Amino acid sequence: MIFPAVRRLALASVLFSCANIFAQSPFQFPTANHALYEIGNELKFFAPTAPEKQWTTGSFGCVRSDGWQMHEGLDIRSLQRDRHGEPTDPIMATADGTVVYFNTRPSLSNYGRYVIVRHIVEGIEIYSLYAHLTAVRPGLKIGDPVKAGDVIATMGRTSDAETIPQWRAHVHFELNVLVNDNFAAWFKSNSPGERNDHGEWNGQNLNGLDVREILLGEHDPKGGFSLLNFIRGQTELCRVLVRTINFPYLKRYPMLILKNPVAEKEGVAGYEIALNYNGVAFALMPRAASEIKGKAKFQLLSVNEGEEAAHHCRKLVVQRGGRWQLGTNGLRELELLTN
Ligand SMILES: [Zn+2]
Repeated sequence: MIFPAVRRLALASVLFSCANIFAQSPFQFPTANHALYEIGNELKFFAPTAPEKQWTTGSFGCVRSDGWQMHEGLDIRSLQRDRHGEPTDPIMATADGTVVYFNTRPSLSNYGRYVIVRHIVEGIEIYSLYAHLTAVRPGLKIGDPVKAGDVIATMGRTSDAETIPQWRAHVHFELNVLVNDNFAAWFKSNSPGERNDHGEWNGQNLNGLDVREILLGEHDPKGGFSLLNFIRGQTELCRVLVRTINFPYLKRYPMLILKNPVAEKEGVAGYEIALNYNGVAFALMPRAASEIKGKAKFQLLSVNEGEEAAHHCRKLVVQRGGRWQLGTNGLRELELLTN
């Protein structure tokens, strides 16, 4: 008679310890502005693109140019100004990690001055990016370890192109997966004539996750937020079969590889990859040769039309003559991913 009670207790303690693991918020706000949680007061948190525009233009997603342009991060408003009205908010690391890159020449990027920090959260490599900075913290070096909350920079409004007006001063904050270590070489051969001053730390090699959803998710009083579940639970825009079996993403994100006993037994001949609307590969199913039809390098297997209609700015898939195809951007994402 004692067994059921013991089992219940054991289960309860397992649940309790899981809840404890995930109760801690993996990511902190990069500034003292936490108004994201004030529902209805979003303009206290987000810097919109123009005074008359909605707060959503400072959020993540297809929020620019009437839904036709992607914004891969959050634009978090300044809270502190000097006597000239310039932003002075300290920018803090969102989680424990290592500084992997900073660009101190604003003219070389539309991010202006920016810093990238690598984090391992639940075993997953995630890269935070902080842009439009006025200064990187003096003495900060690439390779330096940082703790969550450590000041790494000062907010600014630097950029290579548009001038960010004083009223709109913000930090552009991203959380990303890294697509490919071979980015620099790939970019050189695929974008002749275009400059890349940032090696693999070019924004095109970082695929943004919806930071707003992450920060809201980990604040949910119900608890239970898990970054891994968040990534695994992305909505599929499309599914593509690739015939490459050895690319860096597989080694970097093995937790996103699904099990397939057929491929395990017969050998892997390709991967069926689920992409979200921003091109994040969030589920990779190994496939055996016997499961693959056709010879195309990239084969579009399915499109979630509802998701495409809701978030169409990246145009990873396009309709031509009533048939879905991979668009230029979709092909580029897959070329980079599997290179
Ligand atoms: Zn931004």
